[in-house]
Amino acid sequence: MTIQSVSLLDLSTDSCRWPIDDGSATLFCGDTALVGCSYCTTHRALAYTPDRKRQASGLHGGSASPSRS
Ligand SMILES: [Zn+2]
Repeated sequence: MTIQSVSLLDLSTDSCRWPIDDGSATLFCGDTALVGCSYCTTHRALAYTPDRKRQASGLHGGSASPSRS
C-alpha cells in the first residue's frame, strides 16, 4: 500500500484527483496526474473501465421484453 493520499488543500493542478474513501475524511490520490487528465495512470484506467459500457448496454437488456401475449 503506497498510496499517498492528500487532502483537498494539498492538491495541486497536476495531482490525481481520484477520491479515496478512508472512512474519516475526503482524501485524494495525489499522485502525479497525466497531462490533460485529472487522474494518474492507475486511476485513469479505473475511470475508463469497460464496466461503464457494460452498464450502458445493460439498459437495453431484453430481460424485460414483453414476450408473453
Ligand atoms: Zn491516482
